[in-house]
Amino acid sequence: MKRMNIVVAGNSFAGFTAAIELKQLVGYDHEIIVIGRTPDFVFVPSLIWYPFGLRKEEDIMFDVRPPFYQRDIKFFEAEIVRFDPGNKQVWLHDEYLPYDYLVIATGSNPDYENIPGSGPGKFSHCICDLTCAREAKKAWKEYMGHGGPIVVAAAQGSAYFGSAYEFLFNAYYQLSTAGLSSDAPITFVTSEPFLGHLGIGGIANLREMGERLFKQYKIDWITNASIKEVLPAKVVLNDGTELPSRYTLIIPGFCGSDAVMNSAELGNETGFIETNDEYRHHDFPEIYAAGLSVDVEQPEETEVLCNVPRTSYPTEMMAKTAAWNIYADIYGLEKKSLPFSDINAYSVLDAANEGMMIIGDHMLSTRGLEMIIPGPQAHWAKVAHEKYFMLSRSMGIV
Ligand SMILES: Cc1cc2nc3c(=O)[nH]c(=O)nc-3n(C[C@H](O)[C@H](O)[C@H](O)COP(=O)(O)OP(=O)(O)OC[C@H]3O[C@@H](n4cnc5c(N)ncnc54)[C@H](O)[C@@H]3O)c2cc1C
Repeated sequence: MKRMNIVVAGNSFAGFTAAIELKQLVGYDHEIIVIGRTPDFVFVPSLIWYPFGLRKEEDIMFDVRPPFYQRDIKFFEAEIVRFDPGNKQVWLHDEYLPYDYLVIATGSNPDYENIPGSGPGKFSHCICDLTCAREAKKAWKEYMGHGGPIVVAAAQGSAYFGSAYEFLFNAYYQLSTAGLSSDAPITFVTSEPFLGHLGIGGIANLREMGERLFKQYKIDWITNASIKEVLPAKVVLNDGTELPSRYTLIIPGFCGSDAVMNSAELGNETGFIETNDEYRHHDFPEIYAAGLSVDVEQPEETEVLCNVPRTSYPTEMMAKTAAWNIYADIYGLEKKSLPFSDINAYSVLDAANEGMMIIGDHMLSTRGLEMIIPGPQAHWAKVAHEKYFMLSRSMGIV
């Protein structure tokens, strides 16, 4: 049998999982090459704590090269400029890598352009990656010196509502333990039609619990909101509402990664890859995608666009499905199908010293089981998951 060249583009949740899983399946018979901008794997879910100085960078990062090296997975530290699916090539700046199979796991990019005045170097902060989280941390330190109103938002087109809630409750906790909460009125602005919708139509009694918690903490909220612009000390909504703010954090909408955007025939108009339930590209059968790169259609029409979150659990499930299907394709085995809407909805929403564990048997389709378990154990579950994730993945266990 021909030795196949399997290239994995991206080395975060989707790419890392796909590469390790593929290696376990195909062993040494085929070559696995991962291309990533940097060898660092950043555990994005912990960025909710980073701006408050609760995590150091080394706590939430590991180097993918040792677990790859131990398994004979090759790693190229490079920027992918574009994919050429017609010729089965991945283009770096002035060279290309040929592939027989390709897994696209280059994630997505925050779409700051959509909201003037938002994003790094401007008037609002974000925690989507380490670079913007560093800015959010510096600004938080400055903010604690003067106080004033705060706006935390999940913007139109956002998908990571959970991280906006987590940042909000952690900020509230920091302010109240410092005795500053009365000088720091917080407004939560969200494109969701109701609190706890999360882009998945809500789950169990999360809406009622959320509303109760917001009232208890005296946090105002605005749903069905879309942000027009961010100014130095205020956030302006499209309905004309002006919210004064001395610290603004916005989880924006996202568009596809640059590498996919530069490869016109691969992605849709927003730069995401449309696949079937095997995570295989509709037009290029040797191309698979997983995680944030994949287009997941929002089945529900909401007043303001709320996208479907591709959190780490479904991302890893997609990556494992894609890996199996490449293996199955090579060896003529039966493929696996995993509709996104059927993946379990597992999540923990951290609220500093407490939180909520969210469990549902389907992400989007009708659920037979859904429950919320609130309490301090949810915070510790999130911390335990972080520690387990960092240890297991740095050892190459997926
Ligand atoms: C603020 C925030 C908080 C979150 N909190 C949680 C949470 O609590 N729990 C949870 O389960 N999920 C959470 N998520 C979602 C989670 O981060 C995603 O599920 C996960 O990051 C998806 O992984 P991915 O590999 O698909 O994409 P990414 O993590 O975006 O990785 C893409 C990778 O590709 C690389 N890459 C991109 N373009 C190129 C290029 N041109 N050349 C080379 N390399 C490239 C990038 O450097 C990166 O390593 C959160 C997301 C955000 C934004």
